[in-house]
Amino acid sequence: MKQHIDTAPIWESYRQDCECPLCLLNAKVEASNVDYFLGESVMEPSQRIEVNKKGFCADHFKLMYVAGNRLGLALMTHTYMKESMKALKENAQKARDAAAAEAGKPIFKRLGSQKGAAFGDVVGELEKMQNTCLMCERIRETMERYMYTVIYMYKHEAEFPKLFAESKGMCLKHYAQALEIAPKHLSGDVLKRFVDTLTDIEMKNFDRLEGEIEWFTNKFDYRNQDKPWGNSRDAVKRCVNKLGHQVVDED
Ligand SMILES: [Zn+2]
Ligand SMILES: [Zn+2]
Repeated sequence: MKQHIDTAPIWESYRQDCECPLCLLNAKVEASNVDYFLGESVMEPSQRIEVNKKGFCADHFKLMYVAGNRLGLALMTHTYMKESMKALKENAQKARDAAAAEAGKPIFKRLGSQKGAAFGDVVGELEKMQNTCLMCERIRETMERYMYTVIYMYKHEAEFPKLFAESKGMCLKHYAQALEIAPKHLSGDVLKRFVDTLTDIEMKNFDRLEGEIEWFTNKFDYRNQDKPWGNSRDAVKRCVNKLGHQVVDED
């Protein structure tokens, strides 16, 4: 291991009762990134250049708007928009050219898959502008480091495998990431133990959740009205999390 490994956030997340400890970490990382981009980064010229180049995705623009620091967001959005106008102007010409090319096509080329083909690049460029996101990039890097740390801890920290095995597994997204990263850093028996344990708890907890959400639906039957909710009251929220999207709002 070359770099410093910060295990404390992983211990903290794994000690909480949740459907995916990595999603808990992701929420924290996202919140601190929102703070960073609205505060500190506004005064850092190198970061502003990066923001101007890449911008943010729709979800992260919305999170920053909701966070409420309008001046920070305004300063950043202003220079980003100025920079985006250059790309947008180039694209505007391409859109006009595409329309002219399309309009001038002979009738047999205006049909089938050829129809509107000239607009592909223009639309692609605009989609790229919306989907490139500096915050997504930073969060992804941090989360990859955390996922690596989970695997490192499984191998090196004596108490961690037990806590890991007692957890409720991960959401689908993080389960897939764990399976992708594990064979790069583990091998032999440890790899087998890690994947077997993770897969066991994943199956067991999907099964449990399936039962809990079924009981949630059954509770709407008047015959079950007076029966106890058990663990099902917030089952929808936890299923949505398990399937890959953490629901932040409290019920
Ligand atoms: Zn997750
Ligand atoms: Zn984003």
